[in-house]
Amino acid sequence: MTTISDNLQAVEERIRRALRVSARDDGSVHLLAVSKTWPAEAVRQARAAGQRSFGENYVQEGVEKIIALADPGIEWHFIGPLQSNKTREVAEHFAWVHGVDRLKIAERLSAQRPAALPPLQVCIQVNVSGEASKHGVAPAEVRALARAVARLPRLRLRGLMAIPEPSEDESLLRGRFRLLRELRDQLNAEGLALDALSMGMSHDFELAIAEGATIVRVGTAIFGTRTRVD
Ligand SMILES: *Cc1c(COP(=O)(O)O)cnc(C)c1O
Repeated sequence: MTTISDNLQAVEERIRRALRVSARDDGSVHLLAVSKTWPAEAVRQARAAGQRSFGENYVQEGVEKIIALADPGIEWHFIGPLQSNKTREVAEHFAWVHGVDRLKIAERLSAQRPAALPPLQVCIQVNVSGEASKHGVAPAEVRALARAVARLPRLRLRGLMAIPEPSEDESLLRGRFRLLRELRDQLNAEGLALDALSMGMSHDFELAIAEGATIVRVGTAIFGTRTRVD
């Protein structure tokens, strides 16, 4: 049986190899370990193996783990869909939010971010898959949303995030990732300063790295196949 520590090493090696293939700098991709559905003990094991950033999709489950582990060395990222009645808990407990796709949610997160904490780091989720996806802001609307989010006092807009539709077609997936990078580059050319591209999961992060990913969100390849299906 492989352990979480073995899996982490294998994922880190895959990341290094993908960076090398693209002639990108070692260390230019941040690994986010997606611990949704796994108990706090699994996070503890990954942490003991040196992993620092963890992603959660469900507010209640995530906050319970954050409180149970009480580890100030962990950086918690909220990566799931966010309803407006859950923004306060996210603003109070997480360091990053990846799935912002409406101004109303961003405004609530900014208003509810406790003064004692640093600004909440956010990525805007973009729908790069058209009809095939229902989450994320349409590419044509990213500019207006990004400008409005960038003005909110208690948020720091870091970049864009996407989840392409499931596909075995590598060139299709690469095209989705490329679109996200082009949108980010365009916003930067217009005066924003976005460094983050949150894209790529267990089965496709090499393709995302080839297209410029700076954060990959990896669950299954680290913790194993989830038995709870949502
Ligand atoms: C579950 C999830 C992941 C991780 O997916 P794996 O295929 O298990 O690596 C990444 N990002 C988001 C938004 C997720 O919901």
